[in-house]
Amino acid sequence: MKTLPTGKSHVSFSEIKNWHECPFRHKLIYVDKLDVSEPSPYLDYGQSAHNFCEAFLTGKDPVESLVKSEEMLRKFWKDHNFSEEAWTIQNGDITMKIDPLEKWVSALHDVAAEMPLFLKGTFQDDYEVLAAEHALMESAFPESEYNFKGFIDCVISGTTGAKRKSKKVWILDWKTTNAGGWSPQKMRDPMVQTQLALYKMYWARKMSIDPKDVRCGFILLKRGAKRGKVCKLIDVSVGPKFLEKAQKLVKDALFGIENGLKVKNRNSCTWCQFRDTPHCPS
Ligand code: SF4
Repeated sequence: MKTLPTGKSHVSFSEIKNWHECPFRHKLIYVDKLDVSEPSPYLDYGQSAHNFCEAFLTGKDPVESLVKSEEMLRKFWKDHNFSEEAWTIQNGDITMKIDPLEKWVSALHDVAAEMPLFLKGTFQDDYEVLAAEHALMESAFPESEYNFKGFIDCVISGTTGAKRKSKKVWILDWKTTNAGGWSPQKMRDPMVQTQLALYKMYWARKMSIDPKDVRCGFILLKRGAKRGKVCKLIDVSVGPKFLEKAQKLVKDALFGIENGLKVKNRNSCTWCQFRDTPHCPS
């Protein structure tokens, strides 16, 4: 294995995504090791909800798992000094209203109440959990001197759709969202879908199975959605061409990182944490 300028011999999906969005941002985060991101209630909630889902999938007692995930969420808020009442935060030109802690806790309870039934309803009662938080560390491409590293939230075997024929392996990723879920634009975003394409490709290689026998999707966990609407499967179609494109994204990113390419992409600045900071002044 060779070592990249990041000091590592592997890349992850978020690193590849960052490189394609702005190679200069990639350099700041992964080579210079700068991190100007702030703690956020959204991240804390996402981590707590993921914690519950993983515990449930690995067969832990759901009630105990919910208690632990709620404790985790409350501790995050305490450690990050968030107010327990509603407040607002400024992100560039955008002002965001933050719900009080109890609303986030209530949303976590909604996930715990609905997710187990949702999985049964979507993938049939006899679905099987094959893996939770499955670690990937696979050769980035055949004969590559670098690896791809990732964690797959959930791999299950189940049947879906009206015909409900044979079971398929499903690669699934939990995404916490607001009550409205994702916009059609976000659902179609090729970079968003690439995450699942890469997980599918590397899982299939690792398990020596044909990618056509693997399906993938995001499961949205919608905070504040009406009862019965909290979980939603976004079925993502990843065919051979998309897999080829995803593989090329990995190769291109590795080539750029290895050769120290660090051009600024000013089209990606809107939500960048380095925008108008001393690290990347306008
Ligand atoms: S502010 Fe723009 S150019 Fe600078 S690192 Fe971020 S995305 Fe790249």
